[in-house]
Amino acid sequence: MADSANNNKQAQKPEKKKEAKQQTQVPKEKEEAKPQSSKFNVAQIEKDTPEFVRHRLKVLEDYLKSNPPPKKEEKPIKVTLPDGKVVDAVANKTTPYDIAASISKGLAEASVVAKVNDEMWDMTRPLESDCTFALFKFDSPEGKHVFWHSSAHILGSVLEKMYKSHLCVGPPLEEGFYYDIYMAGEEKAVSPEDFGVIDTLVSKEIDSKAPFERIVVPKAVALEMFKYNQFKYQILSAKVPENGTCTVYKTGSLIDPCKGPHLPHTAKLKGYVTTKNSSSYWQGKAENPSLQRIYGISFPDAKQLKEWQKFQEEAAQRDHRLIGKNQELFFFHPLSPGSCFFLPHGARVYNRLIEFIRGEYRNRGFTEVITPNSYNSKLWETSGHWANYQENMFVFKCEDQLFGLKPMNCPGHCLLFGHRTRSYKELPLRIADFGVLHRNELSGALTGLTRVRRFQQDDAHIFCRKDQIKAEIKGALDFMQYVYKIFGFDFTLELSTRPEKFLGDLELWNTAETQLAEVLDENKAATGKDWKMNPGDGAFYGPKIDIHIYDALKRAFQCATIQLDFQLPLRFGLEYTTDDYKVERPVIVHRAIFGSVERMLAILIEHTAGKWPLWLSPRQVIVCPISEKSAAYASEVAQMFHNAGFYVDTDLTDKKMQKKIRDAQLAQYNYILVVGEKEAEDKTVNVRTRDNVVHGEKPVQQVIEELKQLAAQFK
Ligand SMILES: [Zn+2]
Ligand SMILES: [Zn+2]
Repeated sequence: MADSANNNKQAQKPEKKKEAKQQTQVPKEKEEAKPQSSKFNVAQIEKDTPEFVRHRLKVLEDYLKSNPPPKKEEKPIKVTLPDGKVVDAVANKTTPYDIAASISKGLAEASVVAKVNDEMWDMTRPLESDCTFALFKFDSPEGKHVFWHSSAHILGSVLEKMYKSHLCVGPPLEEGFYYDIYMAGEEKAVSPEDFGVIDTLVSKEIDSKAPFERIVVPKAVALEMFKYNQFKYQILSAKVPENGTCTVYKTGSLIDPCKGPHLPHTAKLKGYVTTKNSSSYWQGKAENPSLQRIYGISFPDAKQLKEWQKFQEEAAQRDHRLIGKNQELFFFHPLSPGSCFFLPHGARVYNRLIEFIRGEYRNRGFTEVITPNSYNSKLWETSGHWANYQENMFVFKCEDQLFGLKPMNCPGHCLLFGHRTRSYKELPLRIADFGVLHRNELSGALTGLTRVRRFQQDDAHIFCRKDQIKAEIKGALDFMQYVYKIFGFDFTLELSTRPEKFLGDLELWNTAETQLAEVLDENKAATGKDWKMNPGDGAFYGPKIDIHIYDALKRAFQCATIQLDFQLPLRFGLEYTTDDYKVERPVIVHRAIFGSVERMLAILIEHTAGKWPLWLSPRQVIVCPISEKSAAYASEVAQMFHNAGFYVDTDLTDKKMQKKIRDAQLAQYNYILVVGEKEAEDKTVNVRTRDNVVHGEKPVQQVIEELKQLAAQFK
């Protein structure tokens, strides 16, 4: 199957595999699975069915022998299709598959699950009464859910036979599914080396075209079937009422207590691959038994699996942890989990990003401040963090008082606003802060630069009057669109409005929401960018604009924030004097464009695949002398570029020129300047770009000017 093809391909590229192995930060890739090195043997597993599987089947068989399912009355019923059309059917006989087939065979085959009245329904389960009726294919969220849920059963069936393990839970995910198993046999852990064997066994289950049979059994029978399995036994004991019944689904040798629905049979899967494994705990609690979690993904079409795998390969090559290591941008050390060490080249990019935003602050009327990192717990009590966010904060004692490291800048900015009397003339006050923030994330949740404990934001708080909201939001939107255009991010805009449980003055909410909607409409008229309403999805303290950006691989991220806040000014008692000497409360707009600089750096690495644009590049220019004779001139040229503000290196090694150029391209130098004796005489350089385009011989000063212009245009 597709998986072994993948392995063969990898075997032909030994150097690539070596790289992947050295990369400790990157999760184990599927490619590393080597079925041939697994100690498991497919034929042996198939022969050696665990005792508990045989017992379970026997209990069900005995029960069905003495309690054959009662014949239910077949009578005419009416089925209402989504378009309102009513078709005739027979209760306890006609299945959703039959209804679909009466429309078209293709529809019947492509449908994953039906919805009968409000219940999700197996395609093969007979209808019972008059009903409304809808079908879902794999391309719908409902279809994917059932497809991957059913696939988890198949994976579970393999895992229990292979490891003599006890199944726990196997839910579908947004992409794929997993099964948690308890290693009850001799084996204590799943190894990625076994993935190939798992894949082979799953494909055998698929080929067997085993139906998913829905069977209702009394609680006592279910408990007898699952008495070997403390987890399923526990769920059944707690959830099924005394003397009640429960539904189990039988697929091949697997019987699993489950409400369903499922696919008609296992052959609906046309592509499957085991993707990764990890450990977990029963019900997610560390005091409970430790489990092994095995992830997989499946598709109704082999082509879709190929596409998915191609996308995964592309994403893996762009993984910011891999590129960050190869380009020596950053690393993490176990002595400070989640807090990044930015190496010199990583710090260049990091600082450039901040300088870029800082330059825009100057143009857009923001003013930068520097505020404390730790505050007395009294501040967090006022802001509400102590009550709602304490477990995410690093807290420590200082002279018998509790302090907390700031997880965000807003409360400090409120102190700053309130430290003296404010006049309407000062508003809007736009305060920006690149302060270091800390959040106490669980070590298990930390991933590269996308989930960290220590980070900085391009954070700003705008303190403004009610009637200034519209202009400020427009400014924030313009700023954001300007930045995202430079990076080449597409994005979507949504307005999230007042939730059911909101705080504050209803009239203020209404004015603010009207202003926000007006800004979004005007923005649409000016830029063509549409927006969507998300009613009731705002925070309890104010409405917001939700922004999702899409990177080069069309993956969505939420980075920018434009959030109104009516509560924080109230909590901190913030005021300003109006032009008629009254006292009013300002509104706060929290806004950021990058969000966390760390996370934005990760997104940019993956978005650009490490091919930095010149202005952001940590390696902009390299000068390569043809021979030792032009080495002095190469250093002279490099000095000129350095003086002009570029990051420039020279390659003074005695490597062949072709090798120097190749290495420079791999290191992602934007410009490679080749110099020989002729260039030294003419005060020129031979220009070549990273993409191997030769731009020819040009005077040094001219190249400097051209590059300066490109960088100024964010090219
Ligand atoms: Zn199920
Ligand atoms: Zn804030």
